[in-house]
Amino acid sequence: MKVEDYYNLNDRQIEQFEDYKKLLISWNEKINLTAITDEDQIVLKHFIDSLTISKFIDDNSRIIDVGTGAGFPGIPLKIYNDTLKVTLVDALNKRIAFLDEAIQNLKLNEICAIHSRAEDLARVNGQRECYDYAVSRAVANLSTLVEYLLPFVKVGGECICMKGPNIEDEIDNSKNAIEILGGKIEKVEGLVLPDSDMIRNIIIIKKIRRTDFKYPRKAGIPVKKPL
Ligand code: SAM
Repeated sequence: MKVEDYYNLNDRQIEQFEDYKKLLISWNEKINLTAITDEDQIVLKHFIDSLTISKFIDDNSRIIDVGTGAGFPGIPLKIYNDTLKVTLVDALNKRIAFLDEAIQNLKLNEICAIHSRAEDLARVNGQRECYDYAVSRAVANLSTLVEYLLPFVKVGGECICMKGPNIEDEIDNSKNAIEILGGKIEKVEGLVLPDSDMIRNIIIIKKIRRTDFKYPRKAGIPVKKPL
């Protein structure tokens, strides 16, 4: 399976995806980055899955990928659209070492990796309410996730939450949190990953009001006591 069979890529981008895959496989032998090790599965479940949200992101935007892990979806989005200014954040320092190496190895510009919890970084100058988009995949339940994401987003910007199937209850249970934090669900788009039966849902939440400075609450609280 190849990314270029589904997305238009130039030679440089094809090489970057290939190098990223190799780096992922080799680092995964030393540190735990991903449970997915089969090459075709890396392409489908990491690269192509990450790119399903690319059509919602405008050129030249500033985006933050919260709980990026080994760089998903942030690095594939950056390879695909070099005009983006990307911040990758993760609470695990070992993963930041991998991300720094990947950024250097793939010769990506205007992208950085920060070791922090989302709850702490959202209080740092130049991070809070500065992003056009906050994106995230496989990090937390939606009601917790919006408390991580919405504080980073400018009014008028969007959170793009990547989810699996059966999200109705999760969405219902997050409505209170979304309202408190200044968001509004704009769109929920379901899709099936190509040549598979894997269902995904993309939830887009628009930021319509500034987020009260008391959010996010202290690190660990959003997951323990969702709003
Ligand atoms: N987004 C990647 C993906 O889809 O492959 C990684 C998903 S992994 C299951 C969840 C990641 O979120 C982990 O790397 C973890 O360290 C990070 N994480 C969880 N809570 C976080 C928080 N509050 N702030 C920053 N990172 C967090």
